[in-house]
Amino acid sequence: MTKTSIESDFHTLAVAGVQGLQPYLPGKPIDELERELGISNILKLASNENPLGPSSNALRALQDPLQTLALYPDGNGFALKQKLAAILAIQREQITLGNGSNDVLDLLARSFLTTGRNAVFSEHAFAVYPIVTQAVGATAKVATAHPTGHNMPYGHDLEAMLALIDSNTRLVFIANPNNPTGTWLTADELERFMERVPQDVIVVVDEAYFEYVDEPEYPNTMLWIEHYPNLVVTRTFSKIYGLAGLRVGYAVSSIEVADLLNRVRQPFNVNTLALAAASAAIEDEDQVFVSAKVNQEGLQQWMQACEQYAWPYIPSVGNFICVDVGGDAQPVYDALLQQGIIVRPVANYKLPNHLRITIGTETQNTRCIATLKQVLKELR
Ligand SMILES: *Cc1c(COP(=O)(O)O)cnc(C)c1O
Repeated sequence: MTKTSIESDFHTLAVAGVQGLQPYLPGKPIDELERELGISNILKLASNENPLGPSSNALRALQDPLQTLALYPDGNGFALKQKLAAILAIQREQITLGNGSNDVLDLLARSFLTTGRNAVFSEHAFAVYPIVTQAVGATAKVATAHPTGHNMPYGHDLEAMLALIDSNTRLVFIANPNNPTGTWLTADELERFMERVPQDVIVVVDEAYFEYVDEPEYPNTMLWIEHYPNLVVTRTFSKIYGLAGLRVGYAVSSIEVADLLNRVRQPFNVNTLALAAASAAIEDEDQVFVSAKVNQEGLQQWMQACEQYAWPYIPSVGNFICVDVGGDAQPVYDALLQQGIIVRPVANYKLPNHLRITIGTETQNTRCIATLKQVLKELR
């Protein structure tokens, strides 16, 4: 047998859902572009990472656990859960820790989905939802992102999502705010949805950017779990807390759902360093406050630039903004790479004319805006 025929045999051996999977496309790593171009001073605004980095308390908290790396981590994450429970005013038993919140999304799919069942989510929603759904053989029911609600035309259409729910639906994924669009749902909109969704459908509200949102109508859904036991809220230390490299996130749910997720979870899915850093980070309110402030200013800077240069954009409440570059975004992305700037093409989200750009520091934003202006002048 030739090598290629063995490979194609393996393909047919995989379960059907895996055969059809589109791999997740991560932002291009800085090292990779450095190797390709032989330049330094690369600016990565591609993965919604915090340009200010983590809390210095979190970095200090990494020192002591270095002495214990021969030992397995605390598989129950006792200390971190204790702090989260106190700060979020929930019970420790409601928490499921994950190797990033993507891990928790995967646990939800593995716990509630299988062949013959389906998950409902929106067009342009976070790419991990279709991956975790398909990987377990379940069907993705994708609602067209359409003009109800205040954030048309790219935001979730909760009416359309409700209409897709059937007796085989077990999960609904809602990103609030959504990545890559930056669109969001108000407390009113989400509450009306929760009132109407069948109680045997688990609603996952993915709040990866919760701490960045500065809108009076934005809900604190965690307070609703007592009233809606089918609600699961996920958050992460990868975004505002600046700990993406350590991989730690969590779900808060009813105790019953958390018990199920924790059965499926690998026993040591969150490592010792991640647990230590997250425990320190959650207590550093200043780091969160400053990061949110710098992001608000950066969003303003970007929106002003978009207005000034007549670049259409999707209004965002996250730490990123989708800019319409007036045609196929791929050549614009490539030209920015040549200038040492990594952003994110979003054609895989059915947004072929947009680039998603992470909000950086003022200096970083200035460089990215100037370079984009120059690149668009050359290409358009
Ligand atoms: C970044 C992101 C996550 C979190 O990913 P981690 O696995 O926690 O790093 C979850 N949901 C959305 C919508 C995101 O953009």
